Amino acid sequence: MIAAARVIVPFTGAGISTESGIPDFRSPGGLWTRNRPIPFDEFLSSRAARDEAWRRRFDMEATFAAARPARGHRALAALYKSGKSPAVITQNIDNLHQSSGFASGDVVELHGNTTYARCLGCDKRHELGWARERFESTGRAPDCDDCGEPVKTATISFGQTMPEEAMQRANELAQACDLFLVVGSSLVVWPAAGIPLVAKRSGARLVIINNEPTDHDDLADLVIRHDIGETLGPFVGN
Ligand code: NAD
Repeated sequence: MIAAARVIVPFTGAGISTESGIPDFRSPGGLWTRNRPIPFDEFLSSRAARDEAWRRRFDMEATFAAARPARGHRALAALYKSGKSPAVITQNIDNLHQSSGFASGDVVELHGNTTYARCLGCDKRHELGWARERFESTGRAPDCDDCGEPVKTATISFGQTMPEEAMQRANELAQACDLFLVVGSSLVVWPAAGIPLVAKRSGARLVIINNEPTDHDDLADLVIRHDIGETLGPFVGN
């Protein structure tokens, strides 16, 4: 299918990054089995929730900082470099597609990026080092040094508005490809989970690589229920 395709659009989830050492949400031992996610309205309304969100983020920092692209990331980067994939759509927030060789403009991040932060008031970008200094010196979640509003990692929480431009680009990519490759997503988080359906409806072949069943397996042209690294590794010679 890869050889026959003209335009391949990969769509990734947390499963592609488990080989890089970042736990996913729903596997046994995944993040959800340990921490209930903090919804956006709670982050906004409760200082204690913001403190907790930042404490969790810094707890994960060693893991995010040490993570390197895995075989799945490298295989998709190879498709991109070959010219067959114009971009990657991802639900991930870990920046590993950029690290594997995608230009940042060609990583369509549906749920944002956790490697930097933004002010929820004025949208100013803040680096994590700055946030950490504030957090460690005051013991509290950082507020913007320009406008005083809360600062949050540049990620999309449950209940937060989806990034309009990324959603539009993802829909356009899904409509324009002839092979849509879902890699490492349980496809239960909406509206992201609707993007593969757009591709299928637009005539693309839909392939799902995931070691557990997903919500869209019935619609797929091919389901490879197997490890991502082992499945895609041969495309990059390992
Ligand atoms: P998910 O946890 O719901 O699903 C991941 C799927 O990948 C699971 O079905 C799991 O069985 C499968 N999987 C894990 N490792 C695999 C492997 N080596 N080979 C094959 N399959 C494997 O994740 P999701 O669908 O991306 O949705 C949840 C949300 O989690 C996303 O919105 C994302 O923002 C967030 N998240 C991101 C990261 C990250 O950036 N790396 C990590 C955790 C959660």
